[in-house]
Amino acid sequence: MIGIEHWIAGERRASAAADRLPVSDPATGTVYAECPRGHSQDAEAAVAAAEAAFPVWSVLKPSERARWLNRLADAIEARSKAFTACESRDTGKPLALVRDIEVPRAVANFRFFAAQCLNAPDHAFHDEAGLNYTRHAPLGTVAVISPWNLPLYLLSWKLAPALAAGNCVIAKPSEITPMSAELLAEVAHSIGFPAGVLNLLQGAGDTVGAALVAHPRVRAVSFTGSTRVGHTIAAECARQFKKVTLEMGGKNPAVVFDDAPEHTPAALLRAAFQNSGQICLCASRILVQRGRYEQVKAALVRDAAALRVGPPSDSASQLGPMMSKAHFDKVMAYIALAREEGGRILCGGEAVERDGGWYIAPTLIEGLPMSARSCREEIFGPVVSLHPFEDERDALALANDSEYGLAASVWTRDLGRARRMADGLQTGIVWINTWMQRDLRTPFGGMKQSGFGREGGLEALLFFTEPKTVCIGTD
Ligand code: NAD
Repeated sequence: MIGIEHWIAGERRASAAADRLPVSDPATGTVYAECPRGHSQDAEAAVAAAEAAFPVWSVLKPSERARWLNRLADAIEARSKAFTACESRDTGKPLALVRDIEVPRAVANFRFFAAQCLNAPDHAFHDEAGLNYTRHAPLGTVAVISPWNLPLYLLSWKLAPALAAGNCVIAKPSEITPMSAELLAEVAHSIGFPAGVLNLLQGAGDTVGAALVAHPRVRAVSFTGSTRVGHTIAAECARQFKKVTLEMGGKNPAVVFDDAPEHTPAALLRAAFQNSGQICLCASRILVQRGRYEQVKAALVRDAAALRVGPPSDSASQLGPMMSKAHFDKVMAYIALAREEGGRILCGGEAVERDGGWYIAPTLIEGLPMSARSCREEIFGPVVSLHPFEDERDALALANDSEYGLAASVWTRDLGRARRMADGLQTGIVWINTWMQRDLRTPFGGMKQSGFGREGGLEALLFFTEPKTVCIGTD
């Protein structure tokens, strides 16, 4: 049994409470590790460590902070095999997905923000009213809270800008997938990363996570996770006027017009089922114009049924399991609900028995009205509904008929239509004839119940700062 702990002030640290949580291998359903449940006293200790480190870290030259971030990126890259093995065991993801996409993205996140902090947009104005300059000062101690679906990728996406801006950070990864964060803390320790600058609290959201959010000396919270938990965090941050950014759930439409390019069904298959649908950006409602509906449906059903569902140990696996038993049960319950709501299962719709793992077959459903709960609520698994539409207006109305507003994709060769759709879609990201591509320099986030604030690029760096204007009298 692997035992993991918090990392506070550069050291592995046991929790103030004895309770432990099991960590499971989703490909077999067996418990293979345990982590602390976490306690408010642990949050207190992490805040003290961060505060002690802040006076030194915050006044380092940006080039020195950048050097540390690049050293961390190099160290992750050097241990890429270990990160791949631990992440895919913890999540059940195919090895290639972790090795080729997620670990490289974590490395890129640190390198990107190392470069960004050298170009912080501190302005100066003169000749009107003295000499004014604005400095984006670090906040102090900040919390970053991440989910289980892309553990290292999303944690690094928050850590890198927070550190680059000169803050000391307390990271709280998901208790369901704590292993890659543990390895990251070990790697940071091994390169002598300054103690107390990057602290790690493992454990449950409602104990240590809530204590961190409520701590009066934690100055900002960057959260990615469910809309339900986002509401709780937003309320606490509002009470304390604490800076907060929330990246939450989605029910993303893909809108396919009659003139969609040939590669559309193959791209949609990926958009629907990558990481077994456990990506906030996956397309979960596929809207197809009447003239192409049967063709797109037939291609998707054929190719979804051929996807290979299996464990990371099988290099041919394309889809891994659900990442927890509770999540498996939730997704299966939504499939049952879709049936009750009148949905016709075109393929999948059932669990896949393999070594006791939590696998679900890629599932396509048609015949559901957009008012069905299974079309409105986030399922976050390999379950996608298909809907025909008549014209642009109809497509926009169906796509926007959602409480969520994270991402959408539009598939057409007509540039004018693509632009009109992009303008009309109520989502933070719109892809045209592509999916999941994004320049790291762009803002990222959702509208409506999907998000509050933006991450990515300069927006992420600035979130972790307080702009301070200084005016020097020149008379
Ligand atoms: P979750 O909300 O249950 O948990 C996310 C994190 O919050 C975990 O670390 C958890 O321990 C912590 N947490 C839980 N309760 C807390 C509390 N009261 N106070 C502080 N922290 C608390 O989400 P999840 O199930 O881990 O992740 C899946 C969800 O994440 C899905 O809804 C998915 O759409 C969303 N997600 C969104 C994005 C995005 O960028 N918009 C990206 C990935 C995942």
